[in-house]
Amino acid sequence: MEPLRVLLIEDSEDDAELTLRQLKKGGYEPIAKRVDTPESMRAALEMREWDIILSDYTMPEFSGPAALALLHSTGLDVPFIVISGAMGEESAVALMRAGAHDYIMKDNLARLIPAIERELREAEVRRARQRAEADLALAAKVFESSVEGVLIADHEARILRINKAFTEITGYTEADVVGQRPSILQSGRHDRDFYRAMWQSINDNGYWQGEIWNRRKNGEIFPEWLTISEVTDASGQRTHLIGGFTDMSQQKQAEDRIHHLMYYDALTDLPNRALFRERCKRAMSRAWRSGKRVAYLHFDIDRFVTINDTLGHQVGDQLLQQVSQRLAGSVRQQDLVARFTGDEFGIAMADLDRDTSVEDLLHTVVSAFSEPFHAQGREIFLAPSIGVAIFPDDTSDFSELARFADTALHVAKRDGGANYHFYKQSMNRRADDRLDMESALRRALEREEFQLYYQPQWSLATGEIIGVEALLRWQRRDEDMMLPGKFIPLLEETSLIIPVGEWILRQACADHKAWMTMGFKPTPVAVNLSARQFRDKGLVSMLRRVLEDTGIDTEMIELEITESCVMEDPEEALKTLQAFHDMGVRIAIDDFGTGYSSLSYLKRFPLDVLKIDQTFVADVPADNDDAAIIDTIIAMGHRLKLSVIAEGVETQEQADFLREHGCDNVQGYFYDRPMPGEELLSRFIKV
Ligand code: C2E
Ligand code: CA
Ligand code: CA
Repeated sequence: MEPLRVLLIEDSEDDAELTLRQLKKGGYEPIAKRVDTPESMRAALEMREWDIILSDYTMPEFSGPAALALLHSTGLDVPFIVISGAMGEESAVALMRAGAHDYIMKDNLARLIPAIERELREAEVRRARQRAEADLALAAKVFESSVEGVLIADHEARILRINKAFTEITGYTEADVVGQRPSILQSGRHDRDFYRAMWQSINDNGYWQGEIWNRRKNGEIFPEWLTISEVTDASGQRTHLIGGFTDMSQQKQAEDRIHHLMYYDALTDLPNRALFRERCKRAMSRAWRSGKRVAYLHFDIDRFVTINDTLGHQVGDQLLQQVSQRLAGSVRQQDLVARFTGDEFGIAMADLDRDTSVEDLLHTVVSAFSEPFHAQGREIFLAPSIGVAIFPDDTSDFSELARFADTALHVAKRDGGANYHFYKQSMNRRADDRLDMESALRRALEREEFQLYYQPQWSLATGEIIGVEALLRWQRRDEDMMLPGKFIPLLEETSLIIPVGEWILRQACADHKAWMTMGFKPTPVAVNLSARQFRDKGLVSMLRRVLEDTGIDTEMIELEITESCVMEDPEEALKTLQAFHDMGVRIAIDDFGTGYSSLSYLKRFPLDVLKIDQTFVADVPADNDDAAIIDTIIAMGHRLKLSVIAEGVETQEQADFLREHGCDNVQGYFYDRPMPGEELLSRFIKV
């Protein structure tokens, strides 16, 4: 028996009883209420939901038409059937017109059950339709009010519909784009391969997601985050394509701002030390190729501390801004001016020919200070001291060049200031040293003087060893062990790094195999590649040969390439990295944060690991700028699904800071110094 909530509008209890009996006979279990006045009917309608209303036609205090009108006034949709002893045809028709669903004569109650069944069915259909309409209205509302731009296209990517946000973001109205293809938004910033890969993914996976540059109707190019998904029918055939996107211009601007904060000095808007270092190194490698020189000037203002203390910091800041402007105005276009800290500035004079007079250029810089500066209505005279070191005459190593310029600056100051001083080694002796070292390096391979040390890398989460980095050492007979900073530049200049680099890779593979046969858990080995190696045309085939010869599991090799080296020629780098990736080796970006990478390039490179440069790690948690940079790098790395490792971790505080900020792995003296392979065995896990 099926429960049926039935509201009877009937003054006669007997007639009501008769109706209920008929319902039971028809297989229903009525949950019934009898009412016979408007008030009681209203109360009953409020009390609960009803499946059906059965109403008498004439009653002393009520009537069928009045009950029907009352029902309509509530807005409820309940089937309403009139049951009457005597009703003229005219009244019956009028009732049906007024919205009654059926009428039954009391002497023909047998018709009641089929009538109820039909009305219940129809009521269900009406309800289903209402629900569907409500759903559609909701979907339309979501579509229209979404802050994501949405476009719906047919299976051939012809646009059928767009929403309001689409128009707001792109400027195109529905009339502009319906029937067109989404390619009308193309910015020209991506090549054909980009779109080909995108369609490949949609065809293969039914899905593509990524960052894309598009063009608004007004011609402006903007970045968007786009998701394209296909809609298929039951047989799996594509029926529609749906694109949803958000405008990333603001996010991009924020990224650019962070970049600016990372690389520019806030007070003077000059490049900071990090950017200076990067650009200067670039100028050095350019100069190396073209046989030119670079002058590194370390610059500082005499007695600036006294001025700051007597006139106040505000005046000091104003003066520094004026100094920056004059410096920037006194150098040539290809030169770079940066503010290091306080009153210390750096200038790199690039592309110097052998016969360009550095002294003449220095005079221009110094004479920029012959006029007084102005602050607080008074004239202030400032004088600079400058230390100068020359690449490659003094050294070809950047850090050494910086140190030499600093030494020269101290000499200039000691001599009374308002002066410049060149760092001059006894030129001849140095040249001799260099020749000596070069010929020793040429024999070092056959004399087996090179050695690989290894430094473990640890997971902050599990405390387990997750890898080791191979670091080169040179042990000449009867001499102290030499660190790579001393001889790698010379290996690069002489291209000896090519055969030595191959030896390093072979040795690392051989050591790894030895550890495996001793039954240790497989632990990847990171091998450094220098810029000269990375540029070498034979690199990829050398790598393939070594991997094949040694039969090592390619996933166990991680190649470390510095950020600046990759950014020198990103397009070429992409090809090389792709070849590495295809071979199955892992790729780490070394010294990350010192270069000037763009996020969009990083995204395209098949990378596995970001290695935060140790200069940032050195000053955390004390230095707020470095802390912010590390934070940004970790977030960026994770967004690109890369594992992030910090190197040069020397203290517990640094380790804690890195752990709190979600860094994955660490490496540094706090854990281990680089060590010979035998010592490393104690760190490995037995399986
Ligand atoms: P890198 O790749 O950035 O290597 C990290 C350097 O930091 C290593 O110096 C390592 O010993 C040192 N280090 C590790 N932990 C700490 C720490 O907690 N504090 C400090 N202050 N330093 C730490 P290393 O071995 O002298 O190597 C210097 C550079 O020489 C390397 O920098 C790399 O650019 C190059 N290099 C080393 N081995 C190779 C190699 O096999 N091939 C090539 N192409 N370059 C190498
Ligand atoms: Ca490294
Ligand atoms: Ca490094």
